[in-house]
Amino acid sequence: MNAKDVAGWFQRYADVIEEKKAWLTELDSAVGDGDHGANMARGWKEVRNQLKTFEGGLPEVFLLVSRTLISKVGGASGPLYGTAFLRMSMFLKGKEEIGHDDWPALLKAASEGIGQRGKVNGGEKTMYDVWAVVSETAEKRAGEPVRTSHLLEWAREKAEAIRDLRALKGRAAYLGDRSVGHRDPGAESTVLLFETLHQTVS
Ligand code: ADP
Ligand code: MG
Ligand code: MG
Repeated sequence: MNAKDVAGWFQRYADVIEEKKAWLTELDSAVGDGDHGANMARGWKEVRNQLKTFEGGLPEVFLLVSRTLISKVGGASGPLYGTAFLRMSMFLKGKEEIGHDDWPALLKAASEGIGQRGKVNGGEKTMYDVWAVVSETAEKRAGEPVRTSHLLEWAREKAEAIRDLRALKGRAAYLGDRSVGHRDPGAESTVLLFETLHQTVS
């Protein structure tokens, strides 16, 4: 994927977020403060606007997204996604393309960024769980090409699996046992990101 492909991925994701805004808000209404859809839509709408006139290289696309999300998305998810995209931008410094072999380290950079920013370790029922499993599973398959269909599959499985957990971080943690059975909004918006990635490359 080059800068143009990545910009296409993000434009597409902005559309998906707009389409799924009500659903993400519904999920967040059950376990949080009901603004995840609105938060994401606000940020990604601005990303789409910025991309219209954007002409930079690969790391700069990620940087643009990072900065825009940090400044436009109120709420926990802005700085978390913003950190993920910032770390990816840093990893891609000097590169013009993301090759198959780059995915494990690229995802690791993103996942570690979210872990540090959110002070999460995994198993606490947040978006981090999805980023971490995708990154770790990709890394374990060293040597084999990582396909976006795999990334999507691992992300989906994890987002389903954590429904049964009790949330220990973020607003959902206030619900305690009542968070069990509900989907995590940030985990679901992360799945959509990988779904859109897969659609973009296939
Ligand atoms: P807010 O909770 O501030 O309203 P959002 O509703 O936009 O922000 O985002 C909520 C999502 O952010 C959660 O579903 C969860 O996945 C993620 N999240 C919240 N706190 C953390 C954290 N400390 N670490 C990782 N992810 C978190
Ligand atoms: Mg919220
Ligand atoms: Mg909020």
